Amino acid sequence: MPSIASLISKLQTDYPQFLFKKNSQFLWSPSEQTIYYTDTNNADPIFLLHELAHGLLGHSDYDHDIELVAMERKAWGKVVDLAREYEVTISDEIIQSNLDTYRDWLHSRSTCPDCQATGIQINKKSYSCLACNRNWRVNDARICALRRYRIKK
Ligand SMILES: [Zn+2]
Ligand SMILES: [Zn+2]
Repeated sequence: MPSIASLISKLQTDYPQFLFKKNSQFLWSPSEQTIYYTDTNNADPIFLLHELAHGLLGHSDYDHDIELVAMERKAWGKVVDLAREYEVTISDEIIQSNLDTYRDWLHSRSTCPDCQATGIQINKKSYSCLACNRNWRVNDARICALRRYRIKK
């Protein structure tokens, strides 16, 4: 399995349209067309390919939480091809556990605090329940992966 450093030099050659910058976490910045990566010993290169997948798929800002979940699913689909190409080990477990994180997050945000029905998202920060008419606001996403889409242009 290639190290992150050797992978970065290959990716820079193969994808000159993107910048690759060292950072404390992996993230894709659509406004900067930059893939941020961490190269600590325990960093898994699969997450570098995951951010690259977001870039290649042209993922940017989103209005509804469900779009983010869809983007994540598409990105992981693309990672499967990239992993084969760059000989990076990928397990179905890592994909499923990452997608589960987003599904759980979406579920907890969209569940009505009063009646537990699934609400609909009316704008970026609020949901509404069709069953009991309750409206509720949601916080900025807490999981780090979500912040990547909030970088201002
Ligand atoms: Zn992602
Ligand atoms: Zn309700």
